Amino acid sequence: MPPPPQHGGRSVTPPPHGREATLLPPDEPQQPQRGADSTAFMCPHCEAVLSNPSAVQCDSCLRPVRQKSPVLRVVFPTGELKISVGQHLVLGRDAGQSPVASTFTQFDNVSRRHSTVWLDPSGTAWVRDEGSTNGTFVNGERLPRGVEAPLRDGDELRLAADVTGTVQLG
Ligand SMILES: [Zn+2]
Repeated sequence: MPPPPQHGGRSVTPPPHGREATLLPPDEPQQPQRGADSTAFMCPHCEAVLSNPSAVQCDSCLRPVRQKSPVLRVVFPTGELKISVGQHLVLGRDAGQSPVASTFTQFDNVSRRHSTVWLDPSGTAWVRDEGSTNGTFVNGERLPRGVEAPLRDGDELRLAADVTGTVQLG
């Protein structure tokens, strides 16, 4: 009697799993200047100067780069407001209500306590209308009283008819 045929002589081994491609940046010319430039942002790990200040990863050591604390700015023709994380800034014409009242005193249609802007710890900026008489507008849209609306970089924030500011977030 012939022996039974052999089965399964060949097994296919799958390729090793979970191989991660190592992403190396292409050769980039080193930035010659270091430090002196106030706009330069330095990697906290290897102190390489990052060519892109908004990079989330250092292109020298590839470690994640902590962003500097976000800052919200609202630029009005009559003044620039700067709000840091955790700060709630009341906008309005009354110096007893708003620390930046001088930016708005010349505008009769801005309420004494008009709206509040703030920046939360995640870096999201918000505005809330405080029951103003003539309204708070984001990109031309009036906010319902008391509703918190997010503000993005480049948004237009308007108080009443003609006090228009530009949101800068970064
Ligand atoms: Zn680095």
